[in-house]
Amino acid sequence: MTLDVSPALRQPGEQFPYSITLAVEGDEAARFPDGVEVRGARSDGTYVGGGGTVFVRGMASAEASSRCARCLADVVQPIEAPVREVFGTDADPNDPERRLLQGYEVDLTDAVFTSLALGLPIRFLCREDCKGLCPVCGADLNLGPCGHEPKRE
Ligand SMILES: [Zn+2]
Ligand SMILES: [Zn+2]
Repeated sequence: MTLDVSPALRQPGEQFPYSITLAVEGDEAARFPDGVEVRGARSDGTYVGGGGTVFVRGMASAEASSRCARCLADVVQPIEAPVREVFGTDADPNDPERRLLQGYEVDLTDAVFTSLALGLPIRFLCREDCKGLCPVCGADLNLGPCGHEPKRE
């Protein structure tokens, strides 16, 4: 998803708001671990130009769904992560992080999905105190005890 930043190049120092939505399919969907589905990716923020560069500051957000690590129930969790990018008209050997402007546009796809992948929870839980499944009979212990001794830790 590209963003036309020509206003920032015309008026350096002035902040302009942006709001974009991004498709999560193909290569972008493949950035997330197996079993994690991400929908509704978007980014909102501002960009400002100056001296052949454009700075983008915003947030990336999406909805991630997976299964609870303990009881396997479906879990949907909003994710949010910061987006901080510098785009330049020329490559800067001192700043390998710097991305290149494409004419008057910047491509935020990689920045947004890199942030979202970092913003994923380490593991999904349906709730903090999920009791999980009984290792003996597989019963959902959130619904009540099944009669088997809980494993001592
Ligand atoms: Zn659970
Ligand atoms: Zn049991």
